[in-house]
Amino acid sequence: MSSDRNKKKLAPEERLAFLQKSFPEHKVGFRSLLQVLNSLDAVVYATDLQTDEILFLNKKAVDALNLSTDYSGCKCWEVLQEGQNERCPFCTNDLLLDEAGNPGDSIVWEFQNTLNDRWYLIQDRAIQWWDGRMARLEIATDITSRKRYEDILSSRNNILASVNRIAERMLREGDWKKYLDETLFDLGNASEADRVYIFKNSLTADGRLTMSQLQEWVSDGVSPQIENPALQEQTYEDVGALRWKQMLSKGEIVSGAVADFPEGEQAVLVPQGIKSLVAAPIHADGEWWGFLGLDDCKRERDWNYGEVEALSTAARIIGSAIVRERMEDSMCLANEEALLANEAKSQFLANMSHEIRTPLNGVLAMVQLLTHTDLNEEQRKLLDHAKTAGGSLLEIINDILDLSRIEAGKTQLEETYFELSEVVEGVHASFVDTAKLKGVSLEVDVDSHLPEAFIGDPARLRQILFNLVGNAVKFTPEGSVRLKVSGHALQGDRYHLDFVVEDTGIGIPEDRLESIFAPFTQADETFNRRFGGSGLGLGIAQKLCHLFGGDLNIESTQGEGTAAHFWITVLKSDPKTVEDDLFGASEPLQNLSILLAEDNRINAIAAKRFLEMAGHEVTTVGNGIEALDALKKQSFDCVLMDVQMPEMDGLEAISRIRDGKFPEIDSEIPIIALTAHAMKGDREQFLKKGADSYISKPFEVEQLIKVLCDTIGKKKTDET
Ligand code: ADP
Repeated sequence: MSSDRNKKKLAPEERLAFLQKSFPEHKVGFRSLLQVLNSLDAVVYATDLQTDEILFLNKKAVDALNLSTDYSGCKCWEVLQEGQNERCPFCTNDLLLDEAGNPGDSIVWEFQNTLNDRWYLIQDRAIQWWDGRMARLEIATDITSRKRYEDILSSRNNILASVNRIAERMLREGDWKKYLDETLFDLGNASEADRVYIFKNSLTADGRLTMSQLQEWVSDGVSPQIENPALQEQTYEDVGALRWKQMLSKGEIVSGAVADFPEGEQAVLVPQGIKSLVAAPIHADGEWWGFLGLDDCKRERDWNYGEVEALSTAARIIGSAIVRERMEDSMCLANEEALLANEAKSQFLANMSHEIRTPLNGVLAMVQLLTHTDLNEEQRKLLDHAKTAGGSLLEIINDILDLSRIEAGKTQLEETYFELSEVVEGVHASFVDTAKLKGVSLEVDVDSHLPEAFIGDPARLRQILFNLVGNAVKFTPEGSVRLKVSGHALQGDRYHLDFVVEDTGIGIPEDRLESIFAPFTQADETFNRRFGGSGLGLGIAQKLCHLFGGDLNIESTQGEGTAAHFWITVLKSDPKTVEDDLFGASEPLQNLSILLAEDNRINAIAAKRFLEMAGHEVTTVGNGIEALDALKKQSFDCVLMDVQMPEMDGLEAISRIRDGKFPEIDSEIPIIALTAHAMKGDREQFLKKGADSYISKPFEVEQLIKVLCDTIGKKKTDET
């Protein structure tokens, strides 16, 4: 520091005297200018451009740079800069005059003065001094606070950029702890801290709140504290941090120089080499979870609000990531529970409908048998009603069973030969009379270019069409219902079939269209009452379309009509010739002796009666063991074997017969499996075990007789 600068500071009156001495009377105008400069709130001074001698210093310059001398004759670099003994390297003197030696443009620059460390915006220009010399007039405005603010902004921006990255990482994935290392490193770098750490609270068994350091990042040369036992599972009180607990739990920041902290806290912090720190609380779901902190081990840093704010934001992001993780965990749990509940529901529905179906089949069989007895007109009518009501109930139960099986993923499509015209005509035949009765026309329009035969699941296709055409007829009071079929070839043998069922009926309100596929949903409860139905059909139809690799959607305008469009994929096949189909060519057979193994007494009675009415002789047994015994004693033309029976089930009995281990039993005897629910897997299993064919319960008399004749007929043909 220049010694001249430390000379006695001039009193205002002395300074005025100096001015008056410096400027002669006749230069009054120039003096008034200097007086104005003297009153400015900026550092202003003038120096001789040649000699660097100070010509003028205003009051602000004297005060700001703490000068106290009569500096006439002093060089500017001696007085105005720290430790300078020659012209300053940044001096602008040489730049202020133009080539002709006249004052040029002013030069503006920013500079931090070494005497007081303050920042100035400096404007230098050459002026002619009153005595004719060229002088440099410097006006320097103090911009220190702006500069500090800029610094704060820039460090805040750095930390915010890191906070941004933290947010991106932590909120992108459920497992926020995976990114904790990167997060602490990033925060440490951006804030130029020496340690960054995260502490987590937990409750001990006796309900005390403890904190433990979860993770830490340290800068080069700074000792890690992650192994420090004083920072693991300690209560805040035990480490003298009660103040921290009170502040952080309320959402307040703890910050400052450790030297200013209470003694109890210093005892823990000083051994860690911490000079200053800032800690921000982490809250999750309104509960105080822990805190995130930064240490500075080199200086007593005055943490600016930008740093504090950015750290709090990082702490809040971690809090959000914790909440999100918790939500995901509970959603996973809820999802699992929902899946289990749904499975249980499907299982329950399947069981229940199966349980209801068995006795209902019995009832229907008895009704059927009754219709074959002598009845008067009224009795016949009443029986017809009972049959219709029972049939509707069976339909609903079958729907529920179907839906729950599809939902449980237990439905697989068959891949069997079918002719499209047969399916479509079958559907037409089933509804044409009902439609006619209502005065509604039912038309079918199949594109003549379509192949005749396909491989797929005709029963399921029929089920979809039954539902859609059935609905169209049901909800169309007048006009027409049209079924249109078209399609095109796909790769290989695959074929895309398009079906449209259009009607001119009552339509579906727009706001109900979306939910129409949901189970038990009907467009309008009043119509439901008028038309009946369970609201399951469309849901089943759509799910079946999905199994076919297709989809179903419905367009409708209330009061105008509805169009249901669905498409499926099947395989193209060559049409079968009549000779191929030996199955259908069998003759009606009579006087057969049949063994019926069926544990359900009612079903057994019904089947026995049906068969007897068709002229056959029937022996009934209640399980597989009894069936084998009966076969050993007597020879039969055919066995009707229920699959589910107590003691020995039908499958086991069939394999024992086919094994040929009993010489008394004809191992080639025709066997028809009676199955409660005809599923693809089950059927294959029955056939693999040796059954010749199967019939699913409930069956109509005619159906049973046909399968019986077909099976025996085919067996005979095979043998010859
Ligand atoms: P439902 O057994 O009640 O017919 P669906 O699932 O087949 O069950 O149909 C659900 C509801 O969608 C019906 O109750 C009816 O309100 C409406 N709907 C279906 N098809 C039609 C149609 N072609 N015209 C008018 N409404 C229909």
